[in-house]
Amino acid sequence: MDIRTKAVLTGTAKDTQYNSVITPIYPTSTFRFEELGKHKGYDYTRSGNPTRAALEENIAALEGGLGASATATGMAAITTVLFLLEPGDHVVTGNDIYGGTYRLFKDVFAKRGISFSFIHMMDLAAVKKAIRPSTRMIWIETPSNPLLHIVDLEAVIGLAKKKKLLTVVDNTFLSPYFQRPFESGADIVVHSTTKYLNGHSDVVGGAIVSNNKLLGEKIHYFVNALGVSQSPFDAWLVLRGIKTLPYRMEAHQRNAQKIASFLEGHPSVKQVYFTGLESHPQQTLIKKQMKGFGGMLAFELDTKKVLLKGFFKKMKLFQLAESLGGVESLIEHPWSMSHASMGPEGLKASGITKETIRISAGIESPDDLIEDLRQALQK
Ligand SMILES: *Cc1c(COP(=O)(O)O)cnc(C)c1O
Repeated sequence: MDIRTKAVLTGTAKDTQYNSVITPIYPTSTFRFEELGKHKGYDYTRSGNPTRAALEENIAALEGGLGASATATGMAAITTVLFLLEPGDHVVTGNDIYGGTYRLFKDVFAKRGISFSFIHMMDLAAVKKAIRPSTRMIWIETPSNPLLHIVDLEAVIGLAKKKKLLTVVDNTFLSPYFQRPFESGADIVVHSTTKYLNGHSDVVGGAIVSNNKLLGEKIHYFVNALGVSQSPFDAWLVLRGIKTLPYRMEAHQRNAQKIASFLEGHPSVKQVYFTGLESHPQQTLIKKQMKGFGGMLAFELDTKKVLLKGFFKKMKLFQLAESLGGVESLIEHPWSMSHASMGPEGLKASGITKETIRISAGIESPDDLIEDLRQALQK
């Protein structure tokens, strides 16, 4: 089945009582047993809920995984995956991963016996060098946020497989519509469903997908034990949003491409980062492992020509806000907003500058969006 069909239909036919076309919300904390030791598949909503199960089935199908667990937030999904490790274990990851993930690894888990190497993941030799006898996991984010560096999934996962390391890919930026890491051999895919999967900026959520039954059971165990599963209401919203994912992704991408081309030719812009531009240095890899470019881009503003604060103040349609992947266009300053938790040292290592501006292209008219940027970029 095509992903557009799966997005609309998988996991949805759940009401056998009235045959409602839309999956019902089951806002219940608990489920009645029919008799001692016998229930209809659910006993308590932290451990399982039919609305959440429908979403899990849907996301697993889109990613091509065996099963999924829907969590309260993206960070809850990432936290859960880290619980697969034991004190003493080591993780190799990028120095330009999502700011919240960086903080969780560096501040929270590093104090609890797990060590991390934050490296330049585009450099395969650096990945090889970072692997130690205690390494258990390679954590990949591609494209990176916000500079859109691409990690070679097949090469890094191939290396990990030789050493029997778990590979996890945060697929939030492209969504399964544009990238399916299981096809490159990944063990686990995580999502912040807050972003493209839900797509309407009205819920926070996460998902963990695996293509191995035992691993899936372990993950489900931890989601329940840690108490990080998603509420039925929120799961229902994500399931509703997901149905239009393919069409939204096409629109996000179209707008991002047009905005990137406009910015690339602008005299007040020093550099543009977008995977769909010929100037992106990793075109061969992009074409090999991605089915599209996504809707995220970033650029370096020439602050000698246009003042940073003034630029943001002039924006009329783009909203100055963190987050991404919703139908509305957002613009933000990674240094002081989305990536501030990395600290000056982490920011420098990742390549983000005080002049870096990130855009999440929405699905509005591209002409209106470009006009908004044009007027804000005037000296
Ligand atoms: C937003 C985001 C997260 C965290 O998700 P929340 O839903 O905000 O907890 C993790 N990874 C990436 C790539 C993200 O963009």
